[in-house]
Amino acid sequence: LLRVRGLQKSFGTNRVLESVDLTVGRGRVLALIGPSGSGKTTILRCLNGLELPDGGTIEVAAASPVDRPGAGRTPGRGATSVPVTLDFAAKTTPKQLAALRDRSAMVFQHYNLFPHKTVLQNVIEGPVVVQRRPVAEATAEAFALLERVGLTDKRDSYPFELSGGQQQRVGIVRALALRPQLLLFDEPTSALDPELVGDVLRLIKELADEGWSMVIVTHELEFAREVAHEIAFVDGGTIVEHGDPKQLLRNPQQQRTRQFLHRLL
Ligand code: ATP
Repeated sequence: LLRVRGLQKSFGTNRVLESVDLTVGRGRVLALIGPSGSGKTTILRCLNGLELPDGGTIEVAAASPVDRPGAGRTPGRGATSVPVTLDFAAKTTPKQLAALRDRSAMVFQHYNLFPHKTVLQNVIEGPVVVQRRPVAEATAEAFALLERVGLTDKRDSYPFELSGGQQQRVGIVRALALRPQLLLFDEPTSALDPELVGDVLRLIKELADEGWSMVIVTHELEFAREVAHEIAFVDGGTIVEHGDPKQLLRNPQQQRTRQFLHRLL
């Protein structure tokens, strides 16, 4: 779906991404692990066009009708019929940025739900306001998604009335309602009480098993080992090492990866 080459990003004089190369394939799950401040969230935000990189390229593949699970024959949102390459050292056009932004939907660490909107209103906001889909269609889809995650009876509640785990499940439903081709998770469980983590991880695992393409920033190494097809270890704004989850966690090749894992395990 996406091929990233030499991605660079600085905030003022702070060079956060040195040069990042990665590929997200269709139906694949990539986990990004690494120390705090290494640039994982910034990578995710660049993939979604929430941050504009200073250099490097992102190739957005032409969509196939089956890019999104359950999509049937209709290509999902962000479907471009031709590949698009964004070259951030040169100038990117609004159309290219839209092709990148439309492709994915993000699930945030702190849920980022609209506090003054109900659960249902949160879920249909993007489809109706941004994608201009009919309210009835968006609502029907929202009902089905909320039922799927066991939150039908909460659809008229406000976020503050929900537990963290319920809020994050709404965050995931809200992302799915956008019918993206790629789901981006930014430490989706790190703000949750330990007893609520399991539910959210199980839902993400189910989505992965259904064939959703995902990039997940996580500190949950066990979970990464279980769901990811590939793990990338990020340090100092580059991907130091990437590969098969079991191999990388059991037998890291780089000293920096070994040190990081040693501290955690
Ligand atoms: P963590 O695991 O703690 O979330 P991370 O690996 O996701 O860390 P990033 O959030 O990408 O790291 O941050 C990398 C660096 O970029 C940090 O030094 C941070 O202070 C800086 N940074 C991130 N966003 C901004 C911003 N909008 N403005 C200025 N600096 C930023």
